[in-house]
Amino acid sequence: MAQYDVIIVGGGPGGLFAALEMAGSGLSTLLLERGRDIEKRGCLIQEGKVEVCPPCVPCHVVSGLGGAGAFSDGKLTLSTSVGGRLADYTGLKAAKSLISYVDDVYLRLGASYQLYGVGPEVEGLRRRAAMVDLRLIPTPVRHVGTERCRSVLQGLRNHLSSQLDIRLGVAATSIVTSNGRVVGVDTDRGERHACDYLVVGPGQEGAEWLMKEASRLGLKRYDNPVDLGVRVELQAAVLEEFTRALYEAKMEYFSRSFDDRIRTFCMCPYGEVTLEATGGTDPVSTVNGHSYADRHTPNTNFALLVSTTFTQPFRDPIAYGRSVAHLANLLSGGVLVQRLGDLQEGRRTTPERLGRGIVEPTLASATPGDLSCVPCPTAF
Ligand SMILES: Cc1cc2nc3c(=O)[nH]c(=O)nc-3n(C[C@H](O)[C@H](O)[C@H](O)COP(=O)(O)OP(=O)(O)OC[C@H]3O[C@@H](n4cnc5c(N)ncnc54)[C@H](O)[C@@H]3O)c2cc1C
Repeated sequence: MAQYDVIIVGGGPGGLFAALEMAGSGLSTLLLERGRDIEKRGCLIQEGKVEVCPPCVPCHVVSGLGGAGAFSDGKLTLSTSVGGRLADYTGLKAAKSLISYVDDVYLRLGASYQLYGVGPEVEGLRRRAAMVDLRLIPTPVRHVGTERCRSVLQGLRNHLSSQLDIRLGVAATSIVTSNGRVVGVDTDRGERHACDYLVVGPGQEGAEWLMKEASRLGLKRYDNPVDLGVRVELQAAVLEEFTRALYEAKMEYFSRSFDDRIRTFCMCPYGEVTLEATGGTDPVSTVNGHSYADRHTPNTNFALLVSTTFTQPFRDPIAYGRSVAHLANLLSGGVLVQRLGDLQEGRRTTPERLGRGIVEPTLASATPGDLSCVPCPTAF
């Protein structure tokens, strides 16, 4: 049984940045990642090798060194006013300083110095949004780009691999404790690794596993809101004025009927909609989006999300989101695509109607269908 000072589970941005803190500290460290190395990750659909998501276990879009972010757009939103609750844990000042620290690391690894969302035109856009009841939240955004994001991560991996042990294709299966203290992890290779400290960052792909482990170990959990929504794709020209200045237009709206908070998320100018499958042996297919820095499509896409914090006795936001996504998968065998006009008319989108539209979906494998009878779970 190998003994380490620190074991990190998960090689996504969370795990990699934890590893970066360990590198050079003198502490012996092991990083376990269930997926593949960056170069060995590939999506059969994106490479045009299959038309229908098989799905792979684990899904290489969300699993492997670099985590879900490796195929990602590499948008760094450099603000505490959107994207998570870091400041609730650290306080505002520390959160701001951490954001700037992480940004510096990305810059040293080769991210572009260009910043969006800070120019004089932002105020005019904010006013225009306000005139249609939308609150525009201006945020500085750095766009690394999908292809550059990989080389940035490769640089980080190369730096780390000389300073700590990285095991790929190995999943942690259980957290081992003794007298109320973590003492190691068991893996799916039948090994046990001992440690004094354990950092667990398994992302969305490992969220169910972590939840089960937390319940087994009697740890107190805090539930996040459930985000349900659709990914919207339109001609890039429609949002060009906003995306040119802001890259990502973060907007929110409170619905008239139920006062739900609806927000735009992960805007991908001139980008592509991509498939992802999460959940290991019982996967659900959902969608995401990304933009290359140097390769453009005619479309922009973004997620439109409704966030709801359920109260007692509800305890399982992940199962809830998965079950809604399952319904859409059941109807279509994968992901549904629906024209806005058809949705408003209450009728099914057919391949013919889709073909007559002015937007050609970048996710060619999506099935034209009818979302009017279920919530729209193409992203959660
Ligand atoms: C297509 C796409 C585009 C995105 N674009 C952006 C963007 O532009 N900007 C942005 O900020 N965010 C973006 N995101 C979200 C971002 O990638 C995630 O927020 C981020 O990756 C979360 O980091 P993480 O380390 O917490 O988890 P993850 O990146 O999910 O990494 C977790 C890792 O842990 C591994 N793992 C899970 N369970 C185990 C286990 N039991 N044992 C060993 N390993 C395990 C997984 O295989 C995975 O590699 C995007 C995501 C996707 C999918």
